[in-house]
Amino acid sequence: MRFPLGLALAVGRYMASQALRRRDRFPTTLMLEPLYTCNLACVGCSTERHTGKLSDRLTVAQCLEAVDQSKVPTLSLCGGEPTLYPELPELLQGLIERGKYIFLCTNTLAMEKRVFDVVPPDKHLIVNVHLDGLRETHDFVCNRAGVFDHAMRMIAECKARGYQTMTNTTVFQETSLEEVRELCELLMDHDVDGMLISPGYQYETVQRDIFLKREDIHAKFGEILKFSKQYPIIATPTFLRFAAGQRELNCSPYSTVTRTPLGWKAPCYLIDEKYYSTWDEFWTSVDWAYWESRQDARCQNCYMHSGFEASAVRAATSNPKEALELLAWQMTRPRRRTPRNTSGPSPVTTTPN
Ligand code: SF4
Repeated sequence: MRFPLGLALAVGRYMASQALRRRDRFPTTLMLEPLYTCNLACVGCSTERHTGKLSDRLTVAQCLEAVDQSKVPTLSLCGGEPTLYPELPELLQGLIERGKYIFLCTNTLAMEKRVFDVVPPDKHLIVNVHLDGLRETHDFVCNRAGVFDHAMRMIAECKARGYQTMTNTTVFQETSLEEVRELCELLMDHDVDGMLISPGYQYETVQRDIFLKREDIHAKFGEILKFSKQYPIIATPTFLRFAAGQRELNCSPYSTVTRTPLGWKAPCYLIDEKYYSTWDEFWTSVDWAYWESRQDARCQNCYMHSGFEASAVRAATSNPKEALELLAWQMTRPRRRTPRNTSGPSPVTTTPN
C-alpha cells in the first residue's frame, strides 16, 4: 500500500462524507505550525518560519482547537521545527486520541532528545524527514555541514525503532535529476515508507534565485514522472502529470489550511496575505474562487502539493481510467527485492568532500 491502510480509509470516509453533504470546498489537511522557532535557517525557507520566539508558540489547547474546527483527517505538524515544541508529547497524544493521522515534519536534529524514548511509534504517526538532496546539496540548503549525514542516521534509527518514516524533498533550480534519482535509490536502500518530491515555491521573503520557473518544473517533473513508478513516491500520478505540464488543474487552496502562531493564514500555505484570528472568519472571508483560478501573479509558478494534490485526486476520481490508475497506485508500494550493488563510490556524495 502506498499510504497506510488506516490513513487511506480515514481520508476516503471523510471525502465520502463531504460528498454526501454536497460540499465542493472542504479542507483535507491541516498544516499545523505551533511555533516559528527552528534550529536551522534553510535557504529556501520563508524568513518568518524560522525566526520566531518560542514564547510566541501556540498552546496545546489552541492546536487541538484548530484540529477540531477544521475537522480534517490528516495534518502536517510543521513550523518551525516541531520537535522543539516543548509540549510535543502532549500534543501528539491529543491528536492520536482524536484519530488523526500526523506527518511530523522534521529536520531530525532533535530526534534523539525529543522523540525517541519520549513519543512511541504509533500507526497514526509518520515521521517525515526533510531531505533536499544528497550530502552536498542538502547541507548547502540547510546552511550547515553534517545535516544530511545526521538525517540519514535518524532515518535508519526511525525504521529500526518501528516509526513509519517518509521523506520530503524540494527540487530547486540547481537540483540535478541524477541526484534526485540517486537519492530515491538511497532511500529505497533504507526502505523508507514514502517519498514526497515537490518543486520549491518562491517565497517573497527569500531573495536568492534558487526556485524553478514553470518551464523548468515541467522539464524536471517530466523526467521524474518517467522514473516515479520505481519508487514509493507519494505524489499521485495525476499530480505528477500536472507538474510535468501534461495536464491542467485548478488550485484547491482550501484543501490544505494553515494555523500558525499569527492566526489562520490566508489564502494558502504559501501566501500570507492575511491572518485571521477565528476559523469562521477565515473560512467565510477568503475569496476561494479567485485563488482557485490561479490568476494571481504569485500563483504563476506554483505547483505545490498543498494547492494541487486535492485537485488531482478530485480530477482522477471523476474519470474512470484515472480512478483505476489511482487505485492501483494506492495498492502498490515499490520496494527493493534484492540489495543493489553499492560497491564503488559512496552513493551519498555527488562531489568529493
Ligand atoms: S496556486 Fe499556489 S500560491 Fe496560488 S493559491 Fe494555490 S497554493 Fe497558493
